[in-house]
Amino acid sequence: MQIYFLGTGTSQGIPVIGSSHSVCLSNDAKDKRLRVSVWLTWDENSIVIDCGPDFRQQMLVSGCQKLDALLFTHEHADHTAGLDDIRPFYFKQSKPIPVYAHRDVLENLAVRFDYIFKTENKYPGAPRVEPIEVINNIPFLLGGKEIVPINVNHGGTQVFGYRVDDFVYLTDVKSIDDVEVEKVKNAKVLVINCLREEEHHSHFNLQDALDFIHLVQPTKAYLTHISHLLGFHEEVQKRLPANVFLAYDNLKITL
Ligand SMILES: [Zn+2]
Repeated sequence: MQIYFLGTGTSQGIPVIGSSHSVCLSNDAKDKRLRVSVWLTWDENSIVIDCGPDFRQQMLVSGCQKLDALLFTHEHADHTAGLDDIRPFYFKQSKPIPVYAHRDVLENLAVRFDYIFKTENKYPGAPRVEPIEVINNIPFLLGGKEIVPINVNHGGTQVFGYRVDDFVYLTDVKSIDDVEVEKVKNAKVLVINCLREEEHHSHFNLQDALDFIHLVQPTKAYLTHISHLLGFHEEVQKRLPANVFLAYDNLKITL
């Protein structure tokens, strides 16, 4: 399986519009972060987790040629606002794009993107989706692999992470119940959100992320959903344990 980090930034991205913060002004490409998303491929399968406002740019930069399914973690705009830009995939593949999400997220998207979800009197240029409900503790099959949903808490908002073989993708976590932690253990690659050093009401900070990594003991961990307040990529990376890496946009890893 190939894992391609399409975006590794928090909700505003880096640089933040109008910001004169030194990290926002950095010339290091690793300090430029689009909204968080990841692209998984294996055999002929091509799956994207989350579809934020940078989706179009991410598809162009990564060279993604087809979209077999979209998995959503939750409904927040930085994870969903790019949904309209699945249109080229819908036109090319000429069948509805399967969209996997919690029922509440599907209902939320059906209101915000009513023209995409409605099945009658559709505008011909609108994309079509096939909504598929993800239910906790009920793994589902995609491209011959079992996808395990992992239920986490994002300061009052329910979020699904996903496990595919020994790869675990968790973003927007603030807390996770013990029974869900078991689903994360023994991963070869764990991706986990890490906003900044300071506490936040709905996100892991750096210490929370490192404590969680220590708890679940993956072979390697990659931090994502990063704010400019965490600091320069190069400087933060030097301070991390040997098996912990800051993810960055367009990073590719193979599992
Ligand atoms: Zn987010």
